[in-house]
Amino acid sequence: MDAKKLKEKLFKTNKNAWDSIEEKEKKQIFDFNEKYKNFISENKTERECIKAIEEKLKQNHFVNIDEYDELKAGQKIYYINRDKSIYIAILGEKSPEEGFNMIGAHIDSPRLDLKPNPLYEDNELAMFKTHYYGGIKKYQWVNIPLSMHGVIVKSTNDIIDVKIGEDENDPIFTIADLLPHLASKQEKKSLKDGIEAENLNIIVGSIPYEGDIDERVKLNILNILFEKYGIKEEDFVSAEIEFTPAMKARDLGFDRALVAGYGQDDRVCAYTSLEAILSIENPNRTCVCILADKEEIGSMGNTGMYSHTFEYFIEKILEKTIGDEGNTLNRVFNHSKLLSADVTGAYNPNYPDIYEKNNESYLNHGISIIKYTGSASKGGASDANAEYVGYVRQIFEENNIKYQVSEMGKIGIGGGGTIAYILADRGIDVLDCGVPVLSMHSPYEITSKFDVYNAYKAYKVFFEYDKEDGFEYE
Ligand code: MN
Ligand code: MN
Repeated sequence: MDAKKLKEKLFKTNKNAWDSIEEKEKKQIFDFNEKYKNFISENKTERECIKAIEEKLKQNHFVNIDEYDELKAGQKIYYINRDKSIYIAILGEKSPEEGFNMIGAHIDSPRLDLKPNPLYEDNELAMFKTHYYGGIKKYQWVNIPLSMHGVIVKSTNDIIDVKIGEDENDPIFTIADLLPHLASKQEKKSLKDGIEAENLNIIVGSIPYEGDIDERVKLNILNILFEKYGIKEEDFVSAEIEFTPAMKARDLGFDRALVAGYGQDDRVCAYTSLEAILSIENPNRTCVCILADKEEIGSMGNTGMYSHTFEYFIEKILEKTIGDEGNTLNRVFNHSKLLSADVTGAYNPNYPDIYEKNNESYLNHGISIIKYTGSASKGGASDANAEYVGYVRQIFEENNIKYQVSEMGKIGIGGGGTIAYILADRGIDVLDCGVPVLSMHSPYEITSKFDVYNAYKAYKVFFEYDKEDGFEYE
C-alpha cells in the first residue's frame, strides 16, 4: 500500500475542529456560547446556579421528586440538596435495575470566602478578612474587581441574599497589592508566598462615621449594612459570603473563537450536561445529571459528592418506581455508567516544558477523555477500565463527537482530581470527560466555543445511548 494512504489508515489523527466546521454549524456553536456566557456571567456561586437551574427545570416541566408518589417512564424530576447541589433525572423505559446513564459535574469554583469575623479597621480603611476556597494562585486575586455574593442568616432564621458588584452601577471591591516601588523585598519571595493568604484582605470602605470614638470607618460600614440589610457584626458568624471576580464572560481573540470568564471549572461541564438532559425526551435508560458542590475542596460535606444525599435521591426513585426498600441500590450502581464531567488543563504555549505533547489536551480539539487523573504514581486516580473507555469511544465515534484523550502535564509535575473516584467507589463505571481549559482556577479562565458546544453534544448522546450489543459486565 502507498505509504501516505497507509499512514492515513493507521495513524491517529488529531486535527483542529474548525477545519471541518461549516458556516451553519459555526452559527449554532456561537449562538450556544452566547447563552453559556450569560449563564456563567450571571451565576457565579453554587447557590446562584441552583436558583437559575431550578427555574430552567421548571420551565422544562421538571418537577420536584417529592411531588410524585409514583414515577413512570418519561417523567422528569429533580431534588435540591440544601440549595447547593442538585440531582436531576428523566425516568427511562427500562427498569432502574438495568442501571442509569449518569453525568456528574460540579458547580462550585475557586474563590475568596469571608472569615466568620471578617470586618476590621486599619488606619481608616475598613477591610474584610478572607479565607480562600479551592486551589488558587494567590497573586492572581489582587487588584482585580471583586463582587460579593451569598447569604447572611440571622439568629431569627431570616435569610438575607447578597449580590453586590455585578451590576454596572454597583460598587466593586478589591485587594490592594504593594506598589513596585516598594516591592523589592516582596519580589524576592517565591511566587507562592509573594502574596500571603492573610494578606488577601478586601477594601470595603473609608468614610468615618461622625463622632468622637474609635473605629469610625468600621462603624460607618456597619451602619450602611444595618440600614440596607438589618444586620449587625455578629450576623457574619452565620453567613456564607463568597467574593468572586466581578468580570463578565467575554469573547476572546480577533476571531471570537474562545470564551474568557470566571468559574468555567466546572460550570462549563455543568451547563453543557444540564442543557443535554433538558434536550432528552423518553429515554430508554434512566438519565441522571448530578451537579455537585465542594469539589474544589475535596467533595466533603453533605452537599459534596461524598454525601449520601445522592443515595437518598436514587432510593427515592427506586421506591417510587419498583417499590424497592433499599436493597437494589448497589445493583443499580453496578449497572450504571457515568461520565465525570469536569474540565482538564489545555496545553499552554507559554509553558511548553510543562507538557508531554503527545498526551495533552488542546483547545478546539473537542472533549477530553481522561482515563485517570491523580499524581505521579497515578496516586488517587480512578483509572477507568479499558472496556468502559471503549464503550464511551463507541458512543462518540458512532455520533461524530470529536474527542481527544490525554493526561495533564508531564509525570510528576503536579496532578488533580475530580468526583470520578467517589462515584467509582459505589461500583459505577466512571470516566472523566470534560472541556479543556486554559488558565484553570484563575479569575479569568479560557475555553473554546467549539469544545463547549461539542461537550453538550457528547453529553446528549451519552444520555441517550442504549445499545443492546454494547459492552456490559455480567
Ligand atoms: Mn473541576
Ligand atoms: Mn477545579
